[in-house]
Amino acid sequence: MNDIGKHITSVFSEDGTLSSLPDYEYRPQQLQMAQAISGALQSQSHLIVEAPTGVGKSLAYLVPAILHAVVNGRKAIVSTHTKNLQEQLLHKDTELARTLLPVKFSAALLKGRRNYLCTTRLSNALSHHKQLFDTQESKELDLLSEWAESTPDGDLETLPFPLSAVVRQQVCSEQGACSQQICGPDCFFQRAKARARNADLIVMNHALFFTLLATQPQREGFFFNNDFVIFDEAHTLEAVAGTGIGKSLSRFQVLYAIHRMFNPRTKKGLLSKLRRKNVRLQCADAEEAVNEFFEMAAAAARRLSPSSPTIRIRGPHLVANLAEAPLQQLLDITKELLNDSDSKLSKEELTIAQRLIWEAQILIREFLEQEDTSLTYWVETSAKGSNNVILCSAPTDIST
Ligand code: SF4
Repeated sequence: MNDIGKHITSVFSEDGTLSSLPDYEYRPQQLQMAQAISGALQSQSHLIVEAPTGVGKSLAYLVPAILHAVVNGRKAIVSTHTKNLQEQLLHKDTELARTLLPVKFSAALLKGRRNYLCTTRLSNALSHHKQLFDTQESKELDLLSEWAESTPDGDLETLPFPLSAVVRQQVCSEQGACSQQICGPDCFFQRAKARARNADLIVMNHALFFTLLATQPQREGFFFNNDFVIFDEAHTLEAVAGTGIGKSLSRFQVLYAIHRMFNPRTKKGLLSKLRRKNVRLQCADAEEAVNEFFEMAAAAARRLSPSSPTIRIRGPHLVANLAEAPLQQLLDITKELLNDSDSKLSKEELTIAQRLIWEAQILIREFLEQEDTSLTYWVETSAKGSNNVILCSAPTDIST
C-alpha cells in the first residue's frame, strides 16, 4: 500500500482518525469508496460510484482527492449541481478534512465572472447613472457603492439587499469590458481567479464547468495541466452539459442587448444622451423587428407541435430573418462610435453592447441556417403569461 492508501485507511478504518468524532459510526462502504477513488486517480481511469445516503460520500471523495492533489502536485476540481453542496464542501467537509489529514492544502470556490462586482464598471455606472438608470435603480447603485467598500470578495450573490437585473448587468464583471492592466490587483474577479489558480482543490458548479470547458483552450487536463475532476450530484450532468456546451438565445436576451444601447420605453441607455435622434429610432426599429421575428418563430414552431413548449426544428429557415438588417445597423452604429475619438461614451460599455448584438445576430443566423448537422435545434416557448421564446441548439451526442 502506498502512502496515500495508508492515509486513507488511517482516516476511514474502524479505529481511524474519523472514529474520534462524536456520533461516529464505522461505514465500510465509505472506506471502500475512498479506496476505489484513490485507485482511479492513481491509474488515471474513470470511475462511477453510486452510494446510498448516509455513506459519507463527500468525505470519501474529498480525502483521496486532496491527497492526490497535494502529493502529486495536481489540481482537484469538484463540480456539484447545487450551491448548498458547494457550501457544505467548503465550509464543513474540507475543514473536517484538514483535521484528519497530515497534509496542508488550500481550497477555493470559483464562480462565473458575472457573479463578481467589477469596480471599474461600478464607477462608470456611478458617473452615468442619470443616463442609465431610473430613480429606484440609482438608489440601488448607491447602496452597491457602499457595499463595495466593505465586501471581502465582491460576490454579488452575497449582497444583503435585492439588486435589479438592470443594475446588476451594468456592474458585473464582463469579458468585453475587462482592462485588467488598468484596474490593478484589487479586482474581485482577478483575485478569485488567482485564489483558484493557487488552490489544491477548486469547487465549482456544473454549469461553470461546462461553460469553461467549451471556451478554454485545449490542455493536458480540463483547465490546468494534469488536473482531475470529481462530479457530485452527477444525475444532472447530461442536462447541464447540454446547456453549457449548447447554445441558446432568448428574445429577452436580444431585447436586453438593444436596451443597453437605448430603451425606447424608459428612454435610458448608453445612447440616450447622444445628439442623434436617428440612432434612437434605429434602436426602436430593432426592438420591433426582434419582437416580430421571435413571435414568428414561436408561431411557426407551434404549428409543428401545437401542444409542446419544446419543439424540435428539423430543417433550416424556420422563418425569415427579420432581425438581421436592424441588428447590423446597430453594429454599424457601435463601430462608428467606437472609432469616434471625440465620443464621450464609455468604449468598454460600447464594446460590450457591440459584442452582445453581434452574438445575437450570429446565433439567429446559425439557428436559421442549421449548417452544423451535428447539432439538434429546437425552440422553447414559454408558459402562458410570459412571452419569452428561446432558440436552442446542442450537440446531438454530448459525449463526443
Ligand atoms: S479587471 Fe476586469 S473585472 Fe476586474 S475591475 Fe477591471 S474591468 Fe472589472
